[in-house]
Amino acid sequence: MSRSFDVVVIGAGPAGYIAAIRAAQHGMSVACIDEWKNKDGKHAFGGTCLNAGCIPSKALLESSELFHRANHEFSKHGINASGVSIDIAKMQKRKASIVRQLTGGIAGLFKASKVEGLAGHGKLLRDRKVEFTSAMGETKVLDARYVILATGSTPVELKIAPFDDDRIVDSWGALDFEEAPKTLGVVGAGVIGLELGSVWNRVGSEVVILEAMDDFLFMADRQLAKDAHRLLKAQGLDIRLGAAVTAAGVSKGKVQVEYKDKDGEQRMEFDKLVIAVGRRPFTRGLFADDCGIKTDERGFVIVDQECRTGVKGVFAVGDCVRGPMLAHKGSEEGVMAADLIAGEVAEVNYDVIPSVIYTSPEIAWVGKTEEEVKASGRAYKTGSFPFAASGRAKAMEQTDGMVKIVSAEDDDQILGVHIIGPMAGELISEVVLAMEFQASTEDIQRTIHAHPSLAEAIHEAALAVDNRALNYPNK
Ligand code: FAD
Ligand code: NAD
Repeated sequence: MSRSFDVVVIGAGPAGYIAAIRAAQHGMSVACIDEWKNKDGKHAFGGTCLNAGCIPSKALLESSELFHRANHEFSKHGINASGVSIDIAKMQKRKASIVRQLTGGIAGLFKASKVEGLAGHGKLLRDRKVEFTSAMGETKVLDARYVILATGSTPVELKIAPFDDDRIVDSWGALDFEEAPKTLGVVGAGVIGLELGSVWNRVGSEVVILEAMDDFLFMADRQLAKDAHRLLKAQGLDIRLGAAVTAAGVSKGKVQVEYKDKDGEQRMEFDKLVIAVGRRPFTRGLFADDCGIKTDERGFVIVDQECRTGVKGVFAVGDCVRGPMLAHKGSEEGVMAADLIAGEVAEVNYDVIPSVIYTSPEIAWVGKTEEEVKASGRAYKTGSFPFAASGRAKAMEQTDGMVKIVSAEDDDQILGVHIIGPMAGELISEVVLAMEFQASTEDIQRTIHAHPSLAEAIHEAALAVDNRALNYPNK
């Protein structure tokens, strides 16, 4: 017997579960199908983000950061904390408990908003029918007025270094190490490489990160990337640029890695190797041959600005479609899709999506880099302010980094903001809001910021754009 819903969502990561809840808020009947299984074989909602991405990585970053600070910073405050040790099993238990609470929370949210959460596989058939196969193998066909595809992404595997789930692992494997490997190789100095490399470096691993590109964080503002490279290297992360990994395999319990750099062929040996060279859209078993959905050459579901697939009534959101693979980008697309289905006007402002890398210090930006603005030909001005001149940062013993603002010369529009420093991931929200409201640099200059606060660095950087910084010499 088939069942009917206004909306069927396939995938309950941050794109899909948010789309489902928003659609239910519009009074629609909603089912959300999800097949995620954790390593214990149990189903959990929340997708990559909650089970194997954003949340567990931030839990480990927090624990390892506290351990690092206890060892390296406490003495400066006069706190004697010699002999501090870390219990990795307990750190992992805390992480697992946070993940369990949050994924269980989604099941609770579904119940409260009357979304029918279905554990199992979803497949899009023609005419907006969805075949649902439960974990027990029973199959049902659901009729939907609208379908939202939100099936996410999966790690890229290198043919030259296949995962063995023990020594050569993906990011999920690297979140679950039971002890700090003595030596850890990471392939890729992207967001995952830097975050997970930091975690294990802080708790005692010797970490070498091999990055094929010559430029560090090629997508970031050059000044920000330069500062980040210097600060992360100083923490002991051995980041080797222009180092393309050509082969890796396990022999005698160690990972042997070959890579090529400007000096020729190189070899290294590690206890564990994390492959973090990007993610690709996941759509395996999602489409019936005649469902009409088109994918591009990299496997992304093709959609327009409003996440419409071109098949009537079928939307796709999150990591399985173009754009940055970020949880908040996927969630906003989920909200947009549900609002459009409800007949409301909705859009996502793709120009104002913040990026955050949760290293220490944190790295965050929004809008255009100085290099992008320069290349666009638009006349611009910049202002920056170092955290070394911030009273709050000094009190926190976290003075590394700076805020840089790039603004238009003609109408003072804020074009990009780049922050490296304490709580950069929190600070960036102020400027995201400012840019969303099309604020000028002067608007930030004339906004009162609490004293002493880290946010004053944004205020001062805005003032510096017009050579009016008050707590730091101007250019
Ligand atoms: P996913 O979260 O991948 O969810 C898709 C869901 O769909 C999964 O549960 C999957 O099992 C299910 N599914 C797939 N196919 C089917 C099917 N046919 N039937 C039923 N179910 C199906 N992003 C950030 O913004 N901030 C961070 O700090 C951050 N940290 C990260 C750290 C790591 C280690 C990793 C790996 C990623 C991180 N990301 C972060 C990226 C973030 O996790 C993704 O951008 C986000 O999860 C994408 O959401 P999604 O809903 O599109 O897909
Ligand atoms: P990434 O695209 O950020 O970085 C991959 C890096 O690997 C690139 O710098 C690339 O040049 C390098 N690389 C590729 N092949 C290589 C080779 N053979 N040898 C050496 N280097 C090689 O990808 P990622 O770090 O795997 O992250 C995947 C996605 O997850 C990203 O899109 C990111 O947005 C998302 N994510 C976000 C956060 C966050 O928002 N804080 C955290 C983790 C992951």
